[in-house]
Amino acid sequence: MDGKYAIAVDIGATWMRVAIGDEEGRILKKLSERTKREGKSGKVIADQVLSLISSLIGKIDVGDIEGIGIGSIGPLDLEEGAIVNSPNLPFEYVPLIGPIRSKLKLPIYLINDCTAAVIGEREFGAGKGVDDLVYIGLGTGIGGGVYVDGHLLFGKDRNAAEIGHITIDVEGRLRCGCGKFGHWEAYCSGANIPNFARLLLEGVSEEKVKSSLLFKLVEGQLANLSTKILFDVAEKGDDLSLKIVEKIGRFNAIGFANVINAYDPSLITVGGTLALENPDLIMRPIKKYVRDHTINRLPRIEITPLGKDITLYGAIAAVVRPLREIEPFGG
Ligand SMILES: [Zn+2]
Repeated sequence: MDGKYAIAVDIGATWMRVAIGDEEGRILKKLSERTKREGKSGKVIADQVLSLISSLIGKIDVGDIEGIGIGSIGPLDLEEGAIVNSPNLPFEYVPLIGPIRSKLKLPIYLINDCTAAVIGEREFGAGKGVDDLVYIGLGTGIGGGVYVDGHLLFGKDRNAAEIGHITIDVEGRLRCGCGKFGHWEAYCSGANIPNFARLLLEGVSEEKVKSSLLFKLVEGQLANLSTKILFDVAEKGDDLSLKIVEKIGRFNAIGFANVINAYDPSLITVGGTLALENPDLIMRPIKKYVRDHTINRLPRIEITPLGKDITLYGAIAAVVRPLREIEPFGG
């Protein structure tokens, strides 16, 4: 190999992905595994990253690789190079940079996964040449990345777009993984939709619930309700499930409207497993209700063309097209 190559890592709550990419944003090879959620300490995450990287690069000379870009779920502590108190991981503290640098002497760029995603979108996806761009990830959690006037937003602790924790229910009926009540993510993320669905079902007559296909598929136990079952049954046309999905969409529309009112983007791209696997059921109600809550002119709202690899694209971009705002560890 010659030229600039990057190792890209995407650490998600459910999936971990690694790839090798080049300067043009081509992914040459990639691997993925479920994120390890068992173990004595958060170090299992760094160990998993290292083992995936070693399977990925095999016999490739590390000398051909410019650096490692990591897009990770947050919150991140960028002094320590670690994930801290993540609502979506079972570990309080996950050291990343220390253990990885002790094995691989390459510069490492560590960024929030949705910040990486919006960088990937602007460099290699639908956002090329778009100065006012927002990426929204609807997955296990909800996150965002934002460019305004061509500037990537960071904030004092680099958490400028923690949009999943926008309050959308002042009654605060559901508790978010972060501990606070009423946050968007507590209602509409893949991890929390079952709680929202059960809350909504409290307002439905027993007769209606019991006669639904949803009730049959959870074997009469609402504790068995999962996001996947709900969307699968809605796709089949179950009336009760469709009503719940519509309500989720209304709450998503409020979240999207808040983002539009705050950042005034011309394009919002949407990714995350939940949106990528159920594009119509997720996008239709958002487009239907968003204008009920916006004051700003509506942007285009589209599913990202980069799919599940969007964070990897951003991690590649962080290495091969570095931004002055993102200083690498060991660079
Ligand atoms: Zn929260």
